[in-house]
Amino acid sequence: MVDGKSVTPTIKTTAMVIPNLQLRPHSNHRVTMNFELSIPNVEDRLGWSKTTVSLGNWFPILAVYDQEGWNLDPYVSMGESFYSLTGRFLVTFTTSPKQVIATTGTEVGQPIIRQGKAIHTYQANQVRDFAMELDSTYRKISQKVGSINVQTFYQPAYSKFATDMQRAAIQSLQLFQQKIGPYPWPELDVVTMKGSFGGMEYPQLVMISMRKKSTVARIRTVVAHEVAHQWFYGQIGNNQYDDPWLDESFASYYESMFDQKLNELNAKPVADSRFHLSSPMSVFTQNGKQLDRIYVQMIYKYGPRTLHDLEKKIGSETFEKGIKTYFQQKQFDITTTSDFIQIMEQISHQNLDTFFRQHRVFIES
Ligand SMILES: [Zn+2]
Repeated sequence: MVDGKSVTPTIKTTAMVIPNLQLRPHSNHRVTMNFELSIPNVEDRLGWSKTTVSLGNWFPILAVYDQEGWNLDPYVSMGESFYSLTGRFLVTFTTSPKQVIATTGTEVGQPIIRQGKAIHTYQANQVRDFAMELDSTYRKISQKVGSINVQTFYQPAYSKFATDMQRAAIQSLQLFQQKIGPYPWPELDVVTMKGSFGGMEYPQLVMISMRKKSTVARIRTVVAHEVAHQWFYGQIGNNQYDDPWLDESFASYYESMFDQKLNELNAKPVADSRFHLSSPMSVFTQNGKQLDRIYVQMIYKYGPRTLHDLEKKIGSETFEKGIKTYFQQKQFDITTTSDFIQIMEQISHQNLDTFFRQHRVFIES
């Protein structure tokens, strides 16, 4: 329904087109829809397994219209390909009273119990998405850090990791607030689950994938990486399909800072010079196949090394000032490679053209 009138949407791959709806700046429309989702029985960011239900990217979200027009890029399973603006969410969720739930946002009041079901209400402001994680066996640790409630939700099997995860969340939150800018939301949740990835970031909620080989050191690193995404993507948004380095390379750089391993960043770019640090996902995908190894080498390894090289070139103090300015100018907004370069040039009073070109960072004309 659009403004109370019934319409029939059309669906093409990952895009749903709603007819009779034109969104002009500062105009308001009310779109309502009923939809059913079968949650797949998989260990993933959207899936369920045993007692755990992961609800990432579970509802239709407004596509972004920018200088390229509508962004309807496909889904990729390596890293992320999401792109959304910030919004306000008010979510009512009905489930079994036994479920322990972590979400984006904050629960409003106590759940209402009706006919054996619990009705929860959650509110979130200035977030790009709304994710949830449910498990009736979850235990929880909470601690206030300033005005922020930091919580770790874990299944009993992961008890031995819980305090380290909570500590890593608090320490990384404090470090990144000091080095980048404030964390603006009242709550941050870290949850254990299972997936084929290390971790997955959603606003105010990070999923940490637990594996047989998980060590405390590795889990701490993953927590710090996902917490860094609260700044790079959560606050400073980007088109993750067009510019995957703008969130992943930055989160990886701050992960290394948390681990005090910046000096170990010395990865080389892949030999094939067609792959840039600033390449879009389409370049890291060929003939429908994801080039995981190349993508990881460039975005997660060469990317943070490039940022560290920049830090060495312009000096740590100037680099930090540049990042803080970048944060202030782009908070809750969308950034581009060109925005980042411009701000770093302004703050450092240097022409960084050659530096970025040599590091295979190019601005699309
Ligand atoms: Zn990441």
